[in-house]
Amino acid sequence: MMAQYLALKADAADCLLFYRMGDFFELFFDDAKIAAAALDIALTARGEHDGRPIPMCGVPAHSAEAYLARLIKAGHRVALADQIETPEQAKKRAGSKALVGRAIIRVVTAGTLTEETLLDARAANWLVALGEAGGMLGLAAADISTGRFEVAEIAPESLGAELARLGAAEIIVSENADHWPDGAFPRPRGDFDSVRGEARLKSLFGVATLDGFGAFGRAELAAAGGLVAYLDHAGKGSLPFLQAPLRRAPTAHMMIDAATRESLELTQAQGGGRAGSLLDSIDRTVTGAGARLLAADLGAPLAERGLIEARHDLVAFWFDDPHEREGLRVALKALPDIGRALGRLVAGRGGPRDLGQLRDGLGEARMLRERLGRLANPPVLLGDLLPRLDGHGALVEHLSRALVAAPPIDVAQGGYIAEGYDAALDELRGIGGDGRRAIAALEARFRTQTGIATLKIRHNGVLGYHVEVPAKSADALMAQDSGFTHRQSLAGVVRFNAPELHELALRVTQSGAHALAAEAAHLEALTEEALAGRDAIAATADALARLDVGAALAERAAEGGWSRPTLVDHPCLEIEGGRHPVVEAAVGRAGERFVANDCRLSEGERVWLVTGPNMGGKSTFLRQNALIAVLAQTGSFVPAASARLGLVDRLFSRVGASDNLARGRSTFMVEMVETAAILAQATPHSFVILDEVGRGTSTYDGLAIAWAVVEAVHEVNRCRCLFATHYHELTRLAERLDALSLHHVRAREWKGDLVLLHEVASGPADRSYGLAVAKLAGLPPAVLSRAGAVLKKLEAGRAQTGGLAAGLDDLPLFAAMAAAPEDARDALRDALAAIDADALSPRDALDALYRLKRLA
Ligand code: ADP
Repeated sequence: MMAQYLALKADAADCLLFYRMGDFFELFFDDAKIAAAALDIALTARGEHDGRPIPMCGVPAHSAEAYLARLIKAGHRVALADQIETPEQAKKRAGSKALVGRAIIRVVTAGTLTEETLLDARAANWLVALGEAGGMLGLAAADISTGRFEVAEIAPESLGAELARLGAAEIIVSENADHWPDGAFPRPRGDFDSVRGEARLKSLFGVATLDGFGAFGRAELAAAGGLVAYLDHAGKGSLPFLQAPLRRAPTAHMMIDAATRESLELTQAQGGGRAGSLLDSIDRTVTGAGARLLAADLGAPLAERGLIEARHDLVAFWFDDPHEREGLRVALKALPDIGRALGRLVAGRGGPRDLGQLRDGLGEARMLRERLGRLANPPVLLGDLLPRLDGHGALVEHLSRALVAAPPIDVAQGGYIAEGYDAALDELRGIGGDGRRAIAALEARFRTQTGIATLKIRHNGVLGYHVEVPAKSADALMAQDSGFTHRQSLAGVVRFNAPELHELALRVTQSGAHALAAEAAHLEALTEEALAGRDAIAATADALARLDVGAALAERAAEGGWSRPTLVDHPCLEIEGGRHPVVEAAVGRAGERFVANDCRLSEGERVWLVTGPNMGGKSTFLRQNALIAVLAQTGSFVPAASARLGLVDRLFSRVGASDNLARGRSTFMVEMVETAAILAQATPHSFVILDEVGRGTSTYDGLAIAWAVVEAVHEVNRCRCLFATHYHELTRLAERLDALSLHHVRAREWKGDLVLLHEVASGPADRSYGLAVAKLAGLPPAVLSRAGAVLKKLEAGRAQTGGLAAGLDDLPLFAAMAAAPEDARDALRDALAAIDADALSPRDALDALYRLKRLA
């Protein structure tokens, strides 16, 4: 047995091996130690290996899923080695001492789950593969629980943003790759070969060319090939559900990098977890599929006006008709998760209940289509969705005839095929039923015959049907001529056989076994019929999810008094009465009122510099405007009285280092790296919010950096930007930068106390109110009065030297070329003019670049 175990283990070196022994899965050696610790179960020993006891632990096979879930959550991978023959078959094959054959039937990893109990119903579960070819990066992502399959070519600097968007459960890469994300799992490099990848996809989808799915690059084929090869490996040859790959164009979405996602808490709050995130505060979906789609939408807001407006139309339609919206939501709420049921069926892990869910879900979808089809003036998107809700009539009809009303998850007990579907099956069941009734009658007869009123006929797995009497009444039956044969004596009872019972029992069990087999054959045929329509069923599931999201966003908008945003083609962000949905809810819970604020960014007024006391509402104001842009481009209404917005191509949000101390990194360094990324990537169509950037270092450094960053954003990136700072000195920039304007959050001192009004007004803040905030926070009076004295001294000193920013007014403006002297600029211009870009090879281009750099 150990030899068999070690051979299997050699095949699954990177996994914990669950080795099936009877009713248990057992783990040995280091696997046992790891699992026992992770699962908090007993570690024991069994036998010896090389003279030492073998550590062992085990879990019951029937509850293995729960243990698997915990191991996967803890970051482990598990290989399941099951028995692939019965002991009888093994004996027949290789004699009486033969070991039962075992094989790894499946590798379970975080990215390859389909089990309902192991998955979060409201979150997608992405497996991501990264490939490389010809200097490009390819990303393939699959959620095999529903078959979603996406492929994209990405620039190396967007990798972080893409991974953050997907929140992958598992990432795989080629083993020879050397600069991949943390925690990525290496796989054989041959799997990531683009030529093989293309062949794999073609055979998987049964097509001669992939052109119908889109024009894939080599890197994308490499990634997709690696992904399919891995799924093949994990499923040991049986592939899960993959829909046709969807090719994502990088410009189709608003780019949001990982740091921005984290800082805006789009789908996850800063502490991890969903509570407190934007997603949590807007999610009114009533189905798991809807929740998954909303999370995906919010993670990847669109960047194409027509598509966004189509979604707005759909939301507006439900917004305007609360009655129909409610009707739709009630109907959707009752729907089973047909996408995931289908995923399980394709993966070969489905059962009667999954077919029942398809029947109910597809049937309901069809009724929805009829109902929605009667509505007047449907928006275009609704018109597109409706046909996808139908087309499964024959399947639904067949499943309705074949299955009982509530089919069980498991096939073992049978009973899922409806009466009247198969006459032969009904007859077998009839025989079984008659037999069981005869057995009941026999029990009554045995009681009168023996005079033992407590005599029972029972059934168990070992003895089958048998007669049971209390030990004290057993003597009569023990007699030679009683007609009963003794089988077993237990503490309180004695068990017997009787020839008459034996005959009846045989009839019952035989007909039962035949009935089970007949049901299994029907199940297989029905599953096959369902799977033949898998793509259309997946399309129905997706359409239902889209309906749910549209109605849910309308529900949220109605609840919060939100409005439909207007999209325009020039960069602007004009918000009236904007609110932050998460802070608003928190403020509301505290019994206070959230103060709505306006924001007006345009081409002529690109940068708002916001000053004011701590706790005054600066961060909230910055974030609410970023969230409004995200919501608008997701296709949602927005928390504002009105909103006009030019599409945002990239969104950036950065928070000054000291707010992030809890994250325990070299915070100033992180802040600067992130700021550098913005300056390198923001375009005139981007929107940037910078909150207290420069705060993570000394006053002079910090002010200097903040100053230069604002100038660069204004002069070079020319993007829309909200910049919050407590460096009052920065307000001088308003005199020099014509598209920058000053704003502050209002505060007032009233009877010696600070009142924060959370109101954004134009102009700079008159004071910083630092001491007043300190008082609000409960600093002792003695310390406060001492701080007051120190402040007076400092301010007197500053008045003499002209202040912290004295002299900055003479500094020439920052601009890319402004620092170059005249002649260098001319030389550069000439050299540039001399270049014939069309005639350059990449090598010549690089040389030219070096030449230009020397001139600068
Ligand atoms: P700052 O960035 O200026 O330090 P924050 O934006 O973090 O201030 O806001 C501090 C607190 O003030 C928030 O947690 C919230 O309770 C409250 N607040 C902020 N903005 C508003 C508002 N518009 N209306 C009501 N309360 C607000």
